[in-house]
Amino acid sequence: MQVITSPEEIKNMKSRDFIEFKCEYCNNSFKRIKKIYSEVLTGKSSQTLQYCSHECSSKSKINQIKCNCKECNKELIRNYSGFINFTNHFCNHSCAAKFGNRNKTTGYRRSKLELSLEAKLKDKYQFYKIFFLK
Ligand SMILES: [Zn+2]
Ligand SMILES: [Zn+2]
Repeated sequence: MQVITSPEEIKNMKSRDFIEFKCEYCNNSFKRIKKIYSEVLTGKSSQTLQYCSHECSSKSKINQIKCNCKECNKELIRNYSGFINFTNHFCNHSCAAKFGNRNKTTGYRRSKLELSLEAKLKDKYQFYKIFFLK
């Protein structure tokens, strides 16, 4: 859920005061009373404060895509925009870091190999050049 109201403001609010949220589907802001917000945070309420309406909530589910964590293969749910913006998906930051670290080294090896291939090709090219010039 995306809370627009600042944490300091929320702290000073009474349970009947309205907190402003941003709908994760249509980006419109909507308000819910603080009581519901604290119930959601403590798990007392099964409501989600991610969407302004049931319509947005159900529409967002259509756009949800199942994928797997690239590192530990755990099943993940991503919304469509989050899915297309990233090629690799991770369940948490530590999985992303592990994957990133490993691929930095292979990337380095690959580029080293490419460099040596390039050098060999250049040698060949020079060889042909000399051959044709003669
Ligand atoms: Zn909405
Ligand atoms: Zn993972």
